[in-house]
Amino acid sequence: METDRSATELEVATTALREAARLCQAVQQSLDYGVMEKGDRSPVTVADFGSQALICCALREAFPRDAIVAEEDAAALGGSRQEAIAAEVIRRVLFERPSHSPTDVLQWIDYGNGQPGRDRFWTLDPIDGTKGFLRGRQYAIALALVEDGCLRVGALACPNLDGGLLLTAASGQGSRCQSLGGDARPLAIQVSTTHEVSKARFCESAESGHSSHTEAHRLAKYLGISSNSVRLDSQAKYAVVARGLADIYLRLPTRRDYQERIWDHAAGALILAEAGGTVTDMHGHALDFSSGRTLARNNGVVATNGLLHAQVVEAISELGIGQGKA
Ligand code: AMP
Ligand code: MG
Repeated sequence: METDRSATELEVATTALREAARLCQAVQQSLDYGVMEKGDRSPVTVADFGSQALICCALREAFPRDAIVAEEDAAALGGSRQEAIAAEVIRRVLFERPSHSPTDVLQWIDYGNGQPGRDRFWTLDPIDGTKGFLRGRQYAIALALVEDGCLRVGALACPNLDGGLLLTAASGQGSRCQSLGGDARPLAIQVSTTHEVSKARFCESAESGHSSHTEAHRLAKYLGISSNSVRLDSQAKYAVVARGLADIYLRLPTRRDYQERIWDHAAGALILAEAGGTVTDMHGHALDFSSGRTLARNNGVVATNGLLHAQVVEAISELGIGQGKA
């Protein structure tokens, strides 16, 4: 029964992510991103809104009672300066869903304004790594189902990773990876077996404002890691560790007051955990998805193949990273 239930959720999630990925890829290829700046000065594009509209529409059709907690807000498209961007979002979404109206599209984006409840909700990052998307590099579409504070289902589309990949996981059922475009069967994935920390390959954000490159470098040196970090935008980092192509993902805070957003981690964290890895905050505490839109009880993120986890967390503590000693 449990397996059947997750199967429906996974099916709806993967179909929706494929549709959204088509829209994002079309926008990326057109090089006409329709970029605007949000209140926090971060960029948002036609593709972020379009992806959110398509995925929220699919979720609402399949699971009308589920709340959706998504990154974008249709209100940002409301002003007269944004008219051209709104029109382009509507045009691209209706290309995928021709029998609907412009009003429907804006309403679908608004479905993402749900509140993270105590029972069951979806969390969505319609484009994770928008800066990577704008650079033509890595980005992801990340969707997860949270039930009673636990990650139940995760799906991650990485259109620019190894020709386009779709990773999925359901709790207790392992992680799978398939081609985003093709129809090949999904294959089970597993983390690496690297157990000597000095041989570890680690990845981090391409943005030094999102994760401290300086502290990661200091930590790597302390652990005897000589290879350079691999810098990637988005939750593609979780995908790379889950597939065993890197061993550690470090996200070390650049500001004491920053709280990680749940949609930046939910899908990737479940996919990595189900592939045999371990994900905690930088102090070794489990990520807590039950306190609203942010990981308010956590600080930074460390994700590993599991074998290296204790050593990495211990070294962070020994170096006093994130404790104001550095
Ligand atoms: P990444 O591509 O790994 O750099 O992650 C992109 C995500 O970083 C975005 O979706 C933002 O929500 C998030 N972000 C924005 N500012 C910060 C910050 N100061 N520290 C950590 N993450 C941030
Ligand atoms: Mg994001």
